[in-house]
Amino acid sequence: MQTLGNFINGNNVESQSGRVGAVYDPATGEQTKQVCLSSAQETAQAITAAHDALAEWSAVTPLNRSRVMFKFKALLEENKDELALLITSEHGKVFSDAQGELTRGIEVVEFACGIPHLLKGEQSMNVGRGVDSFSLMQPVGVCAGIAPFNFPAMVPLWMFPVALACGNTFVMKPSEKDPSVPLKLAELLKEAGLPDGVFNVVNGDKESVDVLLSDPRVQAVSFVGSTPIAEYVYKTGSENGKRVQALGGAKNHMVVMPDADLDLVSGSLMGAAYGSAGERCMAISVAVCVGDEAADALIEKLETEIANMRVGAGLGEGEEPHMGPLISRQHADKVLSYIETGIKEGARLVSDGRNFTVTGNEQGYFVGPTLFDNVTPGMRVYQEEIFGPVLSIVRVNTFEEALKLVNEHEYGNGTSIFTANGEAAHMYTHQVQVGMVGVNVPIPVPMAFHSFGGWKRSIFGPLNMHGPDGVRFYTKMKTVTARWPKGQQNINHYTMPTMK
Ligand code: NAD
Repeated sequence: MQTLGNFINGNNVESQSGRVGAVYDPATGEQTKQVCLSSAQETAQAITAAHDALAEWSAVTPLNRSRVMFKFKALLEENKDELALLITSEHGKVFSDAQGELTRGIEVVEFACGIPHLLKGEQSMNVGRGVDSFSLMQPVGVCAGIAPFNFPAMVPLWMFPVALACGNTFVMKPSEKDPSVPLKLAELLKEAGLPDGVFNVVNGDKESVDVLLSDPRVQAVSFVGSTPIAEYVYKTGSENGKRVQALGGAKNHMVVMPDADLDLVSGSLMGAAYGSAGERCMAISVAVCVGDEAADALIEKLETEIANMRVGAGLGEGEEPHMGPLISRQHADKVLSYIETGIKEGARLVSDGRNFTVTGNEQGYFVGPTLFDNVTPGMRVYQEEIFGPVLSIVRVNTFEEALKLVNEHEYGNGTSIFTANGEAAHMYTHQVQVGMVGVNVPIPVPMAFHSFGGWKRSIFGPLNMHGPDGVRFYTKMKTVTARWPKGQQNINHYTMPTMK
């Protein structure tokens, strides 16, 4: 069986740790590969490679760093189908969804291609007589990235293209559940002309993460994953003096106003709730219906749509399914236990995803599309992130009630409102305590040239991923105040300097 190792200093290297994790094909339940779980020493070797490469790479001109990114983008396009196949075979999402993930990741590379423009900084002439001020945006140094399983290509691509373009070097720690893509990305970067050591991949688990959080040579850590680990990474990394951006879990609400176009709502909800089997941090897992009339009509439409859904392996013969399996047996069992919990808590099970099998893929980790009605805020199925194909309907009477509900939830990643009423949409976008908001758009994932990030317990740290925040995160600003005096000037050394 193939064992995936590390990519350090421009080479694929085997791990000597003696520890491995299993990689499965979620559609069949078969183990297809194993991945090394690197030792602390091996993780430190990757940091050494990044540290040794830093001086030279940070001195490369932004234009030449950008040229590497242009070549990398072209290689990503050329290899897109191969990469998408890897995603589907290890993650399980359907092939066209894997291609979509890559497109969104490539867009961040396109953003990073513009780095000479993005690093221009600020300038003020004549802040005092004959005195100019300008800023330098300098690389922070060795950066680390730690990724979740649900976007094995896109999330690493949120991080390292911006970091590298800004002149940093990088150590990537992929999810041990679907680790092949980042190794392939490392090879493509090398082919694009990136010098050895500038980008390294270390596969592993907590042992590697803890080294990345404590080694003093690492200056910045980007993390995406579940909230408890995000909080741990933020606290530990910060205590060790690093800048950290740590994005966590979510429970995203869609508010459905009585005047919403319910065909648009049900069509949008199907993709937002069940696409990628609900394993998206921006998936909609709660629909908040304002008024029983809207709720009843919406449920009727959703039931019809669910009955027509195709669920199956993400790769295969015939028409592509809408939804594939979950990542692992363990995760599928967790989602199934949430369905049991919802029933016990008194929610009405409209569509039951339990006991769901796909003919020919009986051992795959499938859970069918599940719909609960009459979910209330006290229920665990409402409060907790399920991360599976389970949609809850919560009924409220007014817009104000809907807004309060969303604002009181501990997570604040994404949300949307569906309405024909501009005033309601305006109030919602301005008053909701959530980082990414859609108006008649179900999954409002910002484009690469904007920044991605939630509020509340969906993020730890002040700066979001990619876009302007990404550039700020991966650079240190230095402000220079300069004059070129002619002859001797009168200088008062003893009072606070002020500009005349
Ligand atoms: P996870 O938190 O289990 O793992 C994320 C990373 O942390 C992995 O690389 C893993 O190896 C590492 N890790 C796991 N346990 C650790 C520990 N005890 N100490 C140190 N490191 C540890 O998350 P996951 O299950 O891979 O991904 C799903 C989660 O990610 C969901 O909660 C989802 O909402 C979240 N997510 C959030 C966003 C966002 O932008 N906010 C995007 C994608 C996914």
